[in-house]
Order: sequence, then C-alpha cells, then structure tokens
Amino acid sequence: MIDLHTHSTVSDGTDPPERIPELAASAGLRAVALTDHDSLEGLPAAMARAAEVGVELVAGCELSCRSESGGMHVLLYFVDPADAPLRDELVRLRSDRSTRNADLLARLGELGLPVTWADVVTAAGGDEGVIGRPHFAAALVAHGVVGSVQEAFDTWLSRGRPAYVPKSRLTPAEAARLARGAGGVAVLAHPFSLGLPLGALAGVVSELADAGFSGIEAHYGRYTPQQRRDLVDLARRAGLVPTGGSDYHGTMKPDLRVGTGTGDLSVPDRALEDLLDRRPA
Ligand code: AMP
Ligand code: ZN
Ligand code: FE
Ligand code: FE
Repeated sequence: MIDLHTHSTVSDGTDPPERIPELAASAGLRAVALTDHDSLEGLPAAMARAAEVGVELVAGCELSCRSESGGMHVLLYFVDPADAPLRDELVRLRSDRSTRNADLLARLGELGLPVTWADVVTAAGGDEGVIGRPHFAAALVAHGVVGSVQEAFDTWLSRGRPAYVPKSRLTPAEAARLARGAGGVAVLAHPFSLGLPLGALAGVVSELADAGFSGIEAHYGRYTPQQRRDLVDLARRAGLVPTGGSDYHGTMKPDLRVGTGTGDLSVPDRALEDLLDRRPA
C-alpha cells in the first residue's frame, strides 16, 4: 500500500514534514509522497526520516490551476527541487499568496471578523512559509467565530462566500510543462472537485492527457468505492495512470489518516510503478 497525497506544516498540514514518513511506516506503507501546496521545502527533512524508518519518500507538491472547466488542483511528482523554472514559479506563487492573504485579512476586517495576521500565523504553527485559507479558518475557529474549519469555509472562505479572495493560478498545460521540464509528471488531484458529472469529466481528462498529464487521482481518501471505480475506469480510457492518496492534513482535516484516508482507502503499489514509467525520457 502507498499514499501519494499528504501535507505537512510546510503548507497547511499540522504535522512537521519528518512526521509524514513516520505515520506512513506505522500504517505499513511502502511509499508516501509529500505534496505540500506551492512548496518543496519539506522534502529534505521528510527524505532523511523516510530513510531511517524504511519508507520510500516520493518528492511532490500540489499546485492550484485554472481552466475553462474551472479550478483544479494538480499534483507534481518526481520533480527535481533544483530545477530553476520550477523553483522560480513556486517562489512566484508563494509571493502572490502574500498579496492575496493581505487582501483576505482586510476583507475579514471589513466583515467585522476579529482576526489579526498574528492569529493566522499562530494557526500556521508560527511558520509564515505557505499560508492559506485553512489557517484563516483555524484562526476563525480559535476566535469562536465558527465551530470548525469546515464551517469557516462553508460560511466565509469558499468560492462564492463573502471572504473569498482568488489567488494566482497556472493553466493545467503550464503545470504539466513545468512538471515534465523538472523531470517529473503531473496528475489531476481529487477530480470530482471540478464539480462535473462523469461524462463532462471524461472530456476534461482527455484534454489533460493531451496537455501532458500522466494520471488522475482515482483512489482518493474521501471518495466512495463507486466513485473510485468510476475514476479508475475514466483514467484507463484516457490512457492515464489511476493514482491515489489520502490528502492527509493532520488536524486540519481530522477525518483523514495517512494511508487509510477515512478508513477504507488502499492505494495499490502499482500506481507508483506505473507513474514512474511515465517520467520524461
Ligand atoms: P488555498 O490554497 O489557500 O486557497 O487553500 C486551499 C486549501 O483549502 C486546500 O488544502 C483545501 O483542502 C482547503 N479547502 C478548500 N476548499 C475547502 C472547503 N470547502 N472546505 C474545507 N477545506 C477546503
Ligand atoms: Zn491543503
Ligand atoms: Fe487539493
Ligand atoms: Fe491536497
């Protein structure tokens, strides 16, 4: 069993990067990918610990993209952290986040919600590296404005809610080019987040295949067995690898565990082997 989707304190997870391989080893996994948003900074610590606990650590990150079909998240794997175009793009995305976070803080103030930047940084464990909406959500919970991170999103932070502020996004084709240029592959994360019915999703997935994508996340922590089967089928028809992962975020998404997701997740080792075969020559 493997898990190709986890987050650490480097972005919006609540466990330090070195804890991810420990959790993977406890769950009996062969391999685990660290896929923080917009950052590869957790990889050295995670790699070092993975070697100690006997788990294979897959280098990754997760980018937010935009397309005509709407927003989507893209997972990059096997990328070289020293690749200059990728590094530059990640720096740019993180710097854009700072602007967006300032706007988001101002918006919360206008809405009369008592959150300061210090509260948000505290919610991020004191690390200003990659601050995102989950940290604002946790700050709203800490202030008693809402009862949970999920409620903060549903009431204030999700797209269409009063405090939503967009951030800079690449196109999926740009993300795939960046991944391949850095020796890696691109995979569509949690495909049902696009909010499309299966037929329309199949169309988007086939376009992504043409744009250089290598896989789609079929075995996802929060999907039902039927949804996973549908996505495996969809991947196969598009000639893509059905991958999978929990999207573990520590206490930010308290229902998810490394490896097992909400309890019944089991990502086959084969997903990683097939994905490795898709690396650029
Ligand atoms: P950001 O990159 O700052 O826009 O934040 C994205 C993060 O917020 C991702 O980790 C998502 O899992 C989380 N997120 C986005 N939408 C929701 C939602 N409706 N409920 C809970 N978490 C969400
Ligand atoms: Zn996240
Ligand atoms: Fe995501
Ligand atoms: Fe994620």
